[in-house]
Amino acid sequence: MPRPIAATVHMGSLRHNLARMRACAGDRTLWAVVKANAYGHGLLRAARAFADADGLAMIDICDAQAVRAAGWTKRILLLEGFFDETDLPILDDLEIETNIHNREMIEILKAHAPYKNLKVHIKVNSGMNRLGFLPLEEHFVFQELSAIEGVQVMGFVTHFANAEPSYLGEGPATVSKQISRLGRIAHETAGVCLSNSAATLWHPEVVGSAVRAGIALYGVSPDPKFSSDEVGLKPAMTLSAKILAIQEIPAGEAVGYGSRFVAKRTSRIAIVACGYADGYPRSMPDGAPTYVEGHYAPIAGTVAMDMLTIDVTDIPAAKVGSVVELWGKHVPINYLAGLCHTIGYELMCAIALRVPLLEDEN
Ligand SMILES: *Cc1c(COP(=O)(O)O)cnc(C)c1O
Repeated sequence: MPRPIAATVHMGSLRHNLARMRACAGDRTLWAVVKANAYGHGLLRAARAFADADGLAMIDICDAQAVRAAGWTKRILLLEGFFDETDLPILDDLEIETNIHNREMIEILKAHAPYKNLKVHIKVNSGMNRLGFLPLEEHFVFQELSAIEGVQVMGFVTHFANAEPSYLGEGPATVSKQISRLGRIAHETAGVCLSNSAATLWHPEVVGSAVRAGIALYGVSPDPKFSSDEVGLKPAMTLSAKILAIQEIPAGEAVGYGSRFVAKRTSRIAIVACGYADGYPRSMPDGAPTYVEGHYAPIAGTVAMDMLTIDVTDIPAAKVGSVVELWGKHVPINYLAGLCHTIGYELMCAIALRVPLLEDEN
């Protein structure tokens, strides 16, 4: 028997979320972002669920090869571009589109021309200050790339630093400031891809001809201030594990490493088959919710590598073999992430290899 832990991916929810983002995107091209093993959900599984997307956007060229090998015939885009000149023939042969974000990439492209038909997008740095050319350079970059034999420039992309409505900062990289730095590009309706999930959901004033949706497709609100329900999304992953043992302890006894949890009353402590080596953060505090036999049970004691401990004193139905939801429909991943000072994105991506990914049609 494998260890009783699994991350179950809900295919129906993935499809629902895709339809939801399609509705927000209107007639714009919808790129489904499947980087980081589809945010932990499994690359090929996500590619199946997102069959109605216009294309898949990702980071690794080997992921692009994998989805092509699995039969994905629609568009593919590499968000960070290629990493080496040896990638170029693969891109050209498999019709993989690439972002171009720096001068070195242009020189490599020139040196290895001609191509059959290599589709490129120019990444513009509009204030995030990670990748991209300055808006001032965009015209020259466009001309330079267009002059390379076999290269087809598809347009411009940029990325927003703060498209969540709860970002109230007046810093240099608000959506409106990034838009104004982009100038002319921001108002074109062809060949422009600006919005991530948050901008697609909350910034209808941002136009363009394509959007890149990631987190929302997995059913998680990009802004933790809003629940999945409030933005019309369905969580697509449930992490669950079974109870391995139950300890009855008198008041004054401690549980686990560092004895962080000390029982104030006679307590029933359930030992659950999930630990930080599965991707459940060790930094989770006592009191964080889990869900078992129809009730919430708080984390009680420091999360260990292979086990965590919860207080089921008030849940008599909890027994060895009961399934504990660690995150999912009842335990929102964003809420849990907030308790340990991170975001839902990080928890989803950190699901460990040793956790089996299952799927259902919910
Ligand atoms: C990850 C990523 C996205 C998707 O962002 P979400 O917030 O998950 O929607 C879009 N564009 C780029 C360039 C990215 O790296």
